[in-house]
Amino acid sequence: MTQETIIVWFRQDLRLADNPALHAAAKSGAKILPVYVLDDENAGEWKMGGASRWWLHHSLASLNADLGEKMVFLKGDACVQIASLAQGIKASAVYWNRCYEPWRINRDKIIKQNLKEMNIAVESFNGSLLWEPWEVLKSDNTPYKVFTPFYRKGCLSKDEPRKPLAAPKDVQFLEYKDGLSLSGLNLLPAKPQPRWDKKMEDFWEIGEKGAQKSLKHFLNNGLNDYKEGRNFMMKENVSRLSPRLHFGEISPNQVWHAARAKEGELTKDVDHFCSELGWREFSYSLLFHFPDLPRKNLQSRFDAFPWQQSDKNLAAWQRGQTGYPIVDAAMRELWETGYMHNRARMVVGSFLVKHLLLHWHHGEDWFWDCLVDADLPNNAASWQWIAGSGADAAPYFRIFNPVLQGEKFDPEGEYIRRFVPELKDMPNSHIHKPWEASPLILKAAGVELGKTYPNPIVDHSAARDLALEAFGKTKD
Ligand code: FAD
Repeated sequence: MTQETIIVWFRQDLRLADNPALHAAAKSGAKILPVYVLDDENAGEWKMGGASRWWLHHSLASLNADLGEKMVFLKGDACVQIASLAQGIKASAVYWNRCYEPWRINRDKIIKQNLKEMNIAVESFNGSLLWEPWEVLKSDNTPYKVFTPFYRKGCLSKDEPRKPLAAPKDVQFLEYKDGLSLSGLNLLPAKPQPRWDKKMEDFWEIGEKGAQKSLKHFLNNGLNDYKEGRNFMMKENVSRLSPRLHFGEISPNQVWHAARAKEGELTKDVDHFCSELGWREFSYSLLFHFPDLPRKNLQSRFDAFPWQQSDKNLAAWQRGQTGYPIVDAAMRELWETGYMHNRARMVVGSFLVKHLLLHWHHGEDWFWDCLVDADLPNNAASWQWIAGSGADAAPYFRIFNPVLQGEKFDPEGEYIRRFVPELKDMPNSHIHKPWEASPLILKAAGVELGKTYPNPIVDHSAARDLALEAFGKTKD
């Protein structure tokens, strides 16, 4: 009897360990053909942005090396690509781990149907979430819209997330020579290029091994005091696992159980860290149940909000030239590293929608292009949370004061000195508000406002009053 072949279609699960689809295929004893399809055709407006493509290239290179260079790369409509590959190699089955973006759910349903009609079996698995969104519902079978009951009543009352699976050993691969090379996917910035990715390279070790190292580093150095320390931009108390979780270089189950194993003296921090993984589950649940989340206000009373239009202010925000050092440091952190600290995301988000009164879509789109962890559920849910239009959202009157946020969460101005070097010689007393410094202080620091560093593009108090008036109109 000839040995069967199973296609393992890698998507947002770029790892060997705790990969349920790969695990099941290997266990069956069939030959395996690992495949990645770059499908920009079905993604519509949510095809990956530049930073995500850059990450994906390196993550695929790493996974392919771990697979002994056996991976097949394809490009185009996955409905066509997967069906013709399966037919071409006479695959007995196609296995994948589920994705939750609405466009992927719709597409995967079609693929499943097509393959079944071709008598090719299809198995899908949960490799990306701790709990399936359709399993966490209120007692009346409707989805939760408030985080705490979602997590405490909905998630924690269920069985604990399954334990991670080991990476399969002695996998037999099908030799397949057609398909593209990885570089044929054209994921890296086009040449000639300004090489915006050069600085990012030094910041990350991309791939499954890098993800495991990041987790270990965080557990040893960041988990202790996570609850408090996670608010400070320069403390090591955040894991920076978000791009790893997005691309699936590590699974949430691996992270959850590794953190839980540290319980004891760190219980308070472990609980808090796990609840942040819970926020990720919440975003996925919201997108699953409200597929318009990325573009439509969850609360329709925001539909008539008087957003302003200003290309100038938007460009100043995007480039980190607002004149508010904490905002500018954060926007430049994003540009330099592809990542932004969570506290900083909240500060710049609030500044965009509340100080500048620019639509949250602008922020969502810029993040989509620049973040290496750009993730449709988390990005959409978080921007709606910031704007106040989302589920369990920040109340409209919570307007972060960028000076106070900086003074509180970057008290020594280290974050600003790191990303806004033109302010590096400002004293701590004025680094968060250079416009209040005397000419003598500015001169000593080599700062010329309006020349070496911008004046604030809006006045905080005036902007706050305008925002309160505008947001007040959305009240029930
Ligand atoms: P840690 O503090 O180490 O947390 C561990 C993991 O928990 C994270 O990797 C993430 O998967 C999850 N998590 C933590 N905080 C949140 C949160 N508030 N919401 C959902 N999940 C969370 N996260 C993304 O992964 N992709 C995005 O595109 C994204 N866009 C955002 C946009 C805005 C405006 C805001 C305010 C937040 C956004 N977040 C996004 C959520 C959060 O900022 C990041 O997940 C977090 O900063 C990632 O850093 P970390 O891995 O060091 O987090």
